[in-house]
Amino acid sequence: MPPFAIIALVLILSRTITELWLSRLNQHHVRAHSNGVPIAFHGIIDEVTYRRSVDYTVAKSRFGDIANLFDAVLLIAVLFSGVLPWAFGRFSTSFGTSIWAMAGFLFVVGVALSILGLPFAWYAQFKLEERFGFNTSTTRTWALDRMKGFLLALLLGYPLLALVLKLIEWTGATWWLWAAALVIGFQLLLLLIAPAIIMPLFNKFTPLPDGALRERLFALAQRTNFPTRSIEVMDGSKRSRHSNAFFTGFGRFRKIVLFDTLVAQLTEPELESVLAHEIGHYKKRHVLKLLGVSIAGVVAGFAAIAWLARQQWFYRAFGFEYQAGCLPSRACGIVPALLLFGLLVGTIIFWLSPLINSWSRRFEYEADAFARATVGEAQSMVHALRKLSEKNLSNLIPHPLYSGFYYSHPTLLERQRALRYLA
Ligand SMILES: [Zn+2]
Repeated sequence: MPPFAIIALVLILSRTITELWLSRLNQHHVRAHSNGVPIAFHGIIDEVTYRRSVDYTVAKSRFGDIANLFDAVLLIAVLFSGVLPWAFGRFSTSFGTSIWAMAGFLFVVGVALSILGLPFAWYAQFKLEERFGFNTSTTRTWALDRMKGFLLALLLGYPLLALVLKLIEWTGATWWLWAAALVIGFQLLLLLIAPAIIMPLFNKFTPLPDGALRERLFALAQRTNFPTRSIEVMDGSKRSRHSNAFFTGFGRFRKIVLFDTLVAQLTEPELESVLAHEIGHYKKRHVLKLLGVSIAGVVAGFAAIAWLARQQWFYRAFGFEYQAGCLPSRACGIVPALLLFGLLVGTIIFWLSPLINSWSRRFEYEADAFARATVGEAQSMVHALRKLSEKNLSNLIPHPLYSGFYYSHPTLLERQRALRYLA
């Protein structure tokens, strides 16, 4: 086995072992505290709900273990069985090495891999979520969502891929910079048009009806100098009882969205605090910082692909050979690097996730502090967080290593402590 193949294999296996180990650690931790409601939560959550949250956590973890194992086996099989070079050879013989054919190859591999993940997605929705009373989706809605997702990928993703490949032939050695610029531009455009064009394909958005809540939230937006055209309610209950709030678009196109499930679960002051928290993310420039990181990530990714495409050891590690007429100066010479990078990048990002998540948790604390300062009290925020933990059956006592690695948000106790601390 070539040395780099061994390195890749070790990275994939150590990721899977770490995932399983963290999951086991967390399951043990949760079970060890399952005899009764922990003292910190007395008066916050009742015995029955607490027990259900333990069961939900364990069931989700077990399912996650199986899904992770499957992903690892699939990835190893795809990378090391020789199926990719074989399929690439067959594809180029049948359809040629034109830009559209090469983009088609990448697209087909992507679709094939996502089809293999469908049974897991189906099980998660209709068995796991169903069992704990969260699923409200019908098979029809679920299947339609997948169809729409596929059509969007075909209409937007496929031409984008083709354009990236075209840039290789148009711009030569600096193609990766142009490609990164193109992809970033595309992402920004998507951010702009998604609220108007893409999200309505999946959900219904209705303006928050006139009344005390609407007045209260618009007053908050005004007070915090967060101009918004509209506050809308999304029919999240069409798929799930989980709840959320967010804002999308930017500039004049910004729009605040509340899940109908959230509006039903929280009181007016609680909703105001949640919205103040979301505005906090904007005011503290978190959105801009995240955008900056994602832009840097895209540039680094394309630089890596361009570099890897010129390394023979990289291609050989996964059974590819440079073909006559398909050197790395041509699109068909770079397609294997694009494909391999796409398959391996998740393994690299996995090892960065503790870093990314600790960064994200700092943002959450800042947004909480902003909300507290804006509404002038911490109580409604704490109450909202408690209610959401309860309704979503959140794991109240994750193992610290587990939450440190995976959690983009601090736990309820941590946020409560931070909010009180400020008082
Ligand atoms: Zn947040």
